[in-house]
Parts: sequence; C-alpha cells; structure tokens
Amino acid sequence: MKSRKTTDGYLVRCDIGEEVVSILTSFAAENKISAGTVIGIGALKDIVLGYFDMTKKEYLRKEFNGIYELLSLSGNFAKLNSEIMLHCHAVISDADYSVTGGHLFSGVIAITGEFYIRPADTEINRALDKFTGLNLIKL
Ligand code: ZN
Repeated sequence: MKSRKTTDGYLVRCDIGEEVVSILTSFAAENKISAGTVIGIGALKDIVLGYFDMTKKEYLRKEFNGIYELLSLSGNFAKLNSEIMLHCHAVISDADYSVTGGHLFSGVIAITGEFYIRPADTEINRALDKFTGLNLIKL
C-alpha cells in the first residue's frame, strides 16, 4: 500500500494480495482517523459480501472467488468500543458485466485498489442497537 496526503484527506493505493477492509482500517488507525469516509475503485478477488436479514437479525454471506471489477466501494470510519471500524459496501462486476454488491466483509486486491479517504472533523461512535442487532452510528 502507498498513500499520499492531500489537502482534505489521503489518496491510498492498495496492491495485489492486500485485503482491503483490514488494510484500510489499519491505515485509518495509524493515521488517527477515527471518523470519516472512504470511496474507491479497483479490482478484487476472494470477496465476501453480506446481506443483512432483518428477520434473522444476521448477515447472510456469499463468497465470490473470481476476479471482479470493484466498481464502487463506499464506506465510513467510526469507533466501536474505542476501536476504529470500517463499514463499507461494494458494487462489483464480472466478465459478463453482471453487477452485484453488498456489505463488504472482505476482498483481496486482484490488480489494484484506488481509494480516497476523507477524515471527518468530529468523532463518531457506534453502539449496539437492540432493534436491529447492529452497531449503529450514535448521533
Ligand atoms: Zn453494511
């Protein structure tokens, strides 16, 4: 991974073999970004996407093991129990240009990943919401 500071954030390039959710979370922790947003594009493999089933109050998970275009990753950083957490979603496409997407649990950079991280000027925390069973942003 390589990065460059910009006037309002960081440009981050992730390289082949790096797991994107963990490396972006580590980057945020190392740079003391406790809140902010991330957007990105690139190509991923070994992707695990999720769909939150409100009836079961749990994520259904599905693996995608080929190489996919990462058409769009968007997410946010916030603290959960003093640890920085990245919540992100991904839209991916295959060789037939079929598109799918979901909550991104993990994905490995297959070619490159180009991300822009913009820190927020405030701290954001998450806490367990009993109704959904999810750690929602506290406002
Ligand atoms: Zn999600």
